[in-house]
Amino acid sequence: MIAGGAVILADVRLIDATGRAPLDGALVRIEDGRVVEVGVSSGPAPEGAINLEGRTLMPGLIDAHAHVSSDVKRSPGFGPPPALAGELPRPRELGYFVLAKTAAALLEAGVTSVRDVGSYDDEAIVLREAVRLGLVAGPRILSCGRIISATAPGGVLFGTMYREADGPEEMRKAVREQLRRGADFIKLMATGARSVLAEDPEPAQMTQEEIHAVVDEAHRMGFRVAAHVEGLGGARLVVAEGVDTIEHGLSLHREPELLERMAARGIVLVPTLSTFHDLAERFTDLFAPALVDQAKRQLEEAYLTLMAAHGAGVTLAMGHDSGPPGDNAIELVRMVDGGLSAMEAIVAATRGSARALGLSDVGVIEPGAVADLLVLDGDPLTDVHVLRDPDRIWMVLRAGEAVAGRGRATMGL
Ligand SMILES: [Zn+2]
Repeated sequence: MIAGGAVILADVRLIDATGRAPLDGALVRIEDGRVVEVGVSSGPAPEGAINLEGRTLMPGLIDAHAHVSSDVKRSPGFGPPPALAGELPRPRELGYFVLAKTAAALLEAGVTSVRDVGSYDDEAIVLREAVRLGLVAGPRILSCGRIISATAPGGVLFGTMYREADGPEEMRKAVREQLRRGADFIKLMATGARSVLAEDPEPAQMTQEEIHAVVDEAHRMGFRVAAHVEGLGGARLVVAEGVDTIEHGLSLHREPELLERMAARGIVLVPTLSTFHDLAERFTDLFAPALVDQAKRQLEEAYLTLMAAHGAGVTLAMGHDSGPPGDNAIELVRMVDGGLSAMEAIVAATRGSARALGLSDVGVIEPGAVADLLVLDGDPLTDVHVLRDPDRIWMVLRAGEAVAGRGRATMGL
């Protein structure tokens, strides 16, 4: 920190996530939480500058598909140990401490923004407000409130995560209810979910009139729409109705014309590869065998769609849709395993995800951008696994403030 509250990061390898090649020996000046200058270090570093020789600077990661929730069933070891027989029931409010731990874990992993696509009891909105009010340190959180679904079996399993509605007028009301509870965007279930035995994820679960009503109501009020889509029946409808992001979208490789229209309309795809690994490989004992078999097929399709979408020029975003919180970058690694270059996967996890969130001033490092930044020990372009190694997450800045990483010591923190 130098006079006037500015932070200068000097002599660092810069990945600005605009798609440009990395810049070595870069100098980045931050004032009032924003990047004000990006250049090349020349001559002696300015007084007070933090020398980052040998390190890499990139935008903080943005998870575009997360469930910010105290329900940590798919994050073994992250929540409290399971209750033993004879213990008194756990107070429900313990969940808020799990949420605080989630916020910390995300920051420590370099995740500076998260788009919550469904949580129970408005927990994501509660955590968003706790962060906004300075009660806990955490990433920027955008929440959909409750997921808007047709009356469907998933409503039984997901309870307060869902708002069931039927018919265009009720859909409009459901959108308005989410805005009333403080949602940042709207999420709809265009098809059934792969994790619900009684749902078929292939056909559209909402009618075109219903999807139209949701999109029209949200867009008219200035809010974006995320669509859960598995089968092509739903994909065709949401592309026609102009949603802003498609979640999962694994079938899209079967209909390349849809990918071309997504690219032309700027519809972002959040492939969520990790969630298919969860059902197909990781939690096979928790799910009905038919769902595990289905997930194995879907896993293959999700990777085919990743590269088909990439080839068609669709903007890709990183969405972990798994646990534990803080392991989000495994999704970025999987995008590389699937065929993206490390740079392409990093751009997806930063600028691409920012587009999914509808934000233009995060996810890149350029003058005017919010200084949500990640400093790594090493170079993720040569070894993308650096992003998953807690020891290599050297410093995380949120709006110019060092919030995690051992490099905070150099700022006297
Ligand atoms: Zn999800």
